[in-house]
Amino acid sequence: MNQASLAPWACHPARSRGRRVAEPASPPRNEHQRDRDRIVHSTAFRRLVYKTQVFINHEGDLFRTRMTHSLEVAQLGRSAARALALNEDLVEAIALAHDLGHTPFGHAGQDTLHECMRAHGGFEHNLQSLRVVDSLEARYPAFDGLNLSFETREGILKHCSRRHAERLCAAEADGPAQRFLAGTQPSLEAQLVNLADEIAYNTHDIDDGVRSGLLSLEQLADVPLFAQWQQAVLAEHPALATAPGRRLLFETLRRMLSALMGDLIDSTAAALATAAPADVDAVRALPAPLAGFSPDVRAQTTALKRFLFSALYRHPQVVQTTGLARKVVAELFAAYLARPAEMPEDFAAATDLPRSVADYVAGMTDRFALREHQRLTGRRVFGD
Ligand code: MG
Repeated sequence: MNQASLAPWACHPARSRGRRVAEPASPPRNEHQRDRDRIVHSTAFRRLVYKTQVFINHEGDLFRTRMTHSLEVAQLGRSAARALALNEDLVEAIALAHDLGHTPFGHAGQDTLHECMRAHGGFEHNLQSLRVVDSLEARYPAFDGLNLSFETREGILKHCSRRHAERLCAAEADGPAQRFLAGTQPSLEAQLVNLADEIAYNTHDIDDGVRSGLLSLEQLADVPLFAQWQQAVLAEHPALATAPGRRLLFETLRRMLSALMGDLIDSTAAALATAAPADVDAVRALPAPLAGFSPDVRAQTTALKRFLFSALYRHPQVVQTTGLARKVVAELFAAYLARPAEMPEDFAAATDLPRSVADYVAGMTDRFALREHQRLTGRRVFGD
C-alpha cells in the first residue's frame, strides 16, 4: 500500500488518532501494519482456529472456523480497499480482529453466555472483541491488551448499546464508543470490513451447508442471488449439471462472490463521488454509512440471509448440536462461579467474578470447552 495513493477520505496511518498509551514509532511499519502484526501474534487470534463458525469444530475438518472466516474477510476487505484507494492495512487489522471476542460454539455460545451474565451486565461479542485487545491479552510489560490504534479499535467495536456506550465513554470520553452516543459513522475502512464479513459468511455458509449435506442445490435454485449465477454457469458448462464433484457449486459461488464484490466497490465508489467527503472526519460526521451495495443487490442478499437462517441456521441438526453447546457453556459458567479455583489464578483472583468467568469461558476453543466440561461435570456431551 502506497500511502501517497490513498484517497483523501481514507484513514491515513500518519494521521492516526494514536494509542491509549503513547509508543515510539516502529519503522518501517506504519501504525496500522503494527496493529495487524500485534493481532496476528496474539493468543486470542490463534484460538480462532478451533472456534466454530456454524459447525462445531469436531463435525469436520473442512468447514470454516473463525480463523478461516477471518482470513476470508481480510482478503475480501483488502481487495475492496485497494480498488477504492482506502487503507488496506487498517482493513486487514480490523478484519483479523473482528471476531476475537467470539465464544466457543458460535452464536449459541454467545447467547448462552449473555443469559448467564444477564444480572451482571450481559455479554456481547463485539464488546468482548474490544475487551480482548484492550485488556485481556496480557503480553506487554507496560500495558494490558495490545494497545492498538484508535482506528483499529473503532472498527472492532461494530455495535454497542447505549448503556454500554455510556459505560465505555465514562472511562474514555473520546474513545470508539463515543459514536454510538453521537450517532456518527465509523471510518470507511470499518464500514468495508462489515460488508466483507457479510459477503464472506453468506458465501461460505452456502459452501459449508452443501458440504455438510444440510443444504441442497435444488433448495438453492429458489434463491435468486445464487440461482442466477448457477444458470449462467450451466449455460456455459452444461456438463457440470451431472458431473461428479462440486465444480458447479464452486463456480457458482465464485461468480456470486465476484458479483457481490463488484457491486460493493461500484456502489461505494459512486456514493463517494457524490458525497466527496473532505477527509475521514467528514466521513464520520455523515448521517449514514457510504459503503454499501446497490438497492437490488441489497434486496438479494437480504433474501439469501433469510434463506440461510431458516434452511441452515435453524436446521434441526444444527439446532440439536447448538442445544448441546448451550448446555456446555451454561454448565461451565455455573461450575466456575461456584468453584473459581478451577480457573487459572489470574481469573480466579479477579474482583468481578462473574465477568472474569465470562472472560475465561469466552476465550475457550470449542474443544477446550468440551474437555473442561467433562473434567468438571464428569459427563461427556458429544460422543466423538
Ligand atoms: Mg465475522
